[in-house]
Amino acid sequence: MYLVEDYIKICPTCENEFEARRADQEFCSVQHKSEYHNQRARTKRSIFKEVDNYLHRNRDILDRLFFLSEGEKKFSRSYMINAGFKPSFFNGIKTERSTGHKLFLVYDYAFMYDSSTDEIKIYKNE
Ligand SMILES: [Zn+2]
Repeated sequence: MYLVEDYIKICPTCENEFEARRADQEFCSVQHKSEYHNQRARTKRSIFKEVDNYLHRNRDILDRLFFLSEGEKKFSRSYMINAGFKPSFFNGIKTERSTGHKLFLVYDYAFMYDSSTDEIKIYKNE
């Protein structure tokens, strides 16, 4: 048995009260239902785009610094951050079995943070 109150709902799009025709009806109208789902899809796409942009930029910075430097590919963390590098954006983590050091993967590159010197070392996957 349904009580009348079960059918009084709040539409997530317009936040108005409405009387639902079915118990599982969530929106006041078909328009507000599709508006809600379109907005969610737009938000999702823009979040993906933002993360993709950070990852691509990180990869470009690692690539530039890797070929810029001779010998050890080590840079201070603040220098890299000033160049636009965002250390919290990477594609994966690999732990070196022998040392336990964590390598952060960015496409064909990887970086390792050395907290004792506050430096980032860059590696390239051949
Ligand atoms: Zn509505």
